[in-house]
Amino acid sequence: MSPGKLVIAIDGPAASGKSTTARLVAERLGYVHVDTGAMYRAVTLKVLRAGIPPADGQGIARLLETTHVALRREGELIRVLLDGEDVNAEIRSPEVTRAVSAVSRHRSVREMMVREQRRMGAEGGLVLEGRDIGTVVFPDADLKFFLIAGIEARARRRGEELRARGISPDLGGLIEEIRERDSLDSTRDESPLRKAEDAIEIDTSHLTIEEQVRVVVERVRAVGEGKGA
Ligand code: C5P
Repeated sequence: MSPGKLVIAIDGPAASGKSTTARLVAERLGYVHVDTGAMYRAVTLKVLRAGIPPADGQGIARLLETTHVALRREGELIRVLLDGEDVNAEIRSPEVTRAVSAVSRHRSVREMMVREQRRMGAEGGLVLEGRDIGTVVFPDADLKFFLIAGIEARARRRGEELRARGISPDLGGLIEEIRERDSLDSTRDESPLRKAEDAIEIDTSHLTIEEQVRVVVERVRAVGEGKGA
């Protein structure tokens, strides 16, 4: 059974399991997965390529006038297009990861991304993951989750992901990078990372991916049935 066309928000700090969970939940429900972090990463890539310092809000706002970021679905995969170019691999580079929080704090960047995300979500049937989905982008989402996990578990997972792509990171460095990014994302003025009051918190530190996905899917089905979807 596929529970109608709900909007599901999944927020949480870096490497808390949002992406994997959101992707698999969307797959099981026949929903579209929207990785909003990938959109912020695409803008950051453009900023770096243009040689604009991440702190230069005005320069970035000007650059955005000629920037188009879109997500395209290709079977089960979501591809990020920056001005029509597939930048899926490049947006995961350490350079982009280091700069993304500094770029994402600017109001011009957030306004553009939120507009696009709301447009995608207008018809429902979506699992969106990010930092501000349940608080700012879709405060009326049908269901909100906030994923957390211990720092060691998160760094280990991020390390596994990077190793699968041929990069060998050191654990201490990863812990530092994750902490730094969370701190910037939580303390910024514009839509900081925080748990929505009505979000369901899930600690994924000791859960398998299958368990994480099951918890979310069961909740979504229950809400879908309640809404007669
Ligand atoms: O989810 P991911 O780690 O790829 O996100 C990269 C960065 O994008 C975050 O650290 C945050 O600065 C920014 N972001 C955001 N709002 C979102 C999603 C991501 O500010 N909804």
